Amino acid sequence: MDRPTDLPRRRFLHLAGTAAGLAATSACASAARANGPGASTPGGPLTVDRTYNPTRFDPWIELDRAAWAHNVREAARLAGGRPILAVVKNNAYGLGDRAVGPLLAGMSQVGGLAAVRVEEALAMREEGVTKPIVVMAEGSEDEIEEMVRHDVLPSVWLDDAPGRLRSVSRRLGRPVPVHLFIDTGMNREGMPYTRAGNWIEELVQSEHVDVNGTYTMFTHDLDFDREQHARFEELLGWARDRDLPLGTLHAAPSFELFHLPEAHYDMVRPGNALFGNAPGEEAREMADLKPVFSLKTRVVRVEHLEPGDSAGFNRTFMPDRATWVALLPIGRTDGYPSAANGTCEVLINGRVYPVAGGVNSAHTILDIGPDKTVEVGDVATLIGPDHPAVLPHTVGERTELGFLRIIQSMNPRLPRRVV
Ligand SMILES: *Cc1c(COP(=O)(O)O)cnc(C)c1O
Repeated sequence: MDRPTDLPRRRFLHLAGTAAGLAATSACASAARANGPGASTPGGPLTVDRTYNPTRFDPWIELDRAAWAHNVREAARLAGGRPILAVVKNNAYGLGDRAVGPLLAGMSQVGGLAAVRVEEALAMREEGVTKPIVVMAEGSEDEIEEMVRHDVLPSVWLDDAPGRLRSVSRRLGRPVPVHLFIDTGMNREGMPYTRAGNWIEELVQSEHVDVNGTYTMFTHDLDFDREQHARFEELLGWARDRDLPLGTLHAAPSFELFHLPEAHYDMVRPGNALFGNAPGEEAREMADLKPVFSLKTRVVRVEHLEPGDSAGFNRTFMPDRATWVALLPIGRTDGYPSAANGTCEVLINGRVYPVAGGVNSAHTILDIGPDKTVEVGDVATLIGPDHPAVLPHTVGERTELGFLRIIQSMNPRLPRRVV
């Protein structure tokens, strides 16, 4: 039997008003396979592989242990050797608390971890973190009880904290260790310093409470930071005069780690700096912070286009020359921003290629150029330290999203791989 011959390529040079994008919706039909609930599972029970698997094309996040260690050393140097209470809130700013927590906790300069949700703290305990974990949020009685059971330190700042802690302490049959969060003018979280006195006295003297630490948070307005520092100092002096021990004192997130050394207290409390994000131009001069992660995937298709061909929804990419395009199975859902199309580049085999055919929900199309320099299975780095074009800060600038929004958008489901 004859092999079917290739079809001749039909030309379609008309540019405006095509509905080419709609054709892609037919792909949905094939996705709607009979895998619904109740379907038997031939091949054994369904498992979701959360770990890195080199046979898959799908994206993953790589965490560079040496870069984290470097940033931790830089932070410790700025803090004059004080221990670091490493902030890994918000799922480690998007990079993944289950991976980042144990990684940081394994470093000698890190005295403990700080989260904002009970789940984050418990997830890190589940991952084997044994160092102190502070949750920088108020909790319900049930949450506080659960934290104490897992050796996690809750924060308190509400007026009714003494009553709630008494009740939890009675349930547990032991005092509840807590950190007191004092508001010195940010007016976000904390017990306002102006009426903290009696509240502190009641907590410190309560047999149901063990005040393990006391802290405040700064606004990053340096003049006002100094005023906040003075307010905190006044309160600390007041407590000292009355012999009210306040435990470990901490106050400085990244900005004040760099700019307000008088507020370093017993330990410093940075997040961003450890993640490679220096708080401002001046800070970049004061410390050499390294990018700590990469966002990678594997090329899943390489095709040749001729003039007149196009790629992507609404024919996003319409080259006027013959070129190759590569498909990456990564998109907005994974955290790679749609604003990367036409602005960002992707690193493959040491060369960067422009994002040209759109960043869709789960797909990104690159323009490879006239030579086929990329093969299916090649590793593509969308964000990472190995080329200036893919640095987290570069992607943040080119997409106008900034460093934080880039990392905070990483899909929690992406496998994390520590290298
Ligand atoms: C987020 C946060 C930090 C860490 O701030 P960075 O700017 O990331 O260093 C420290 N303390 C509190 C209370 C925070 O909310």
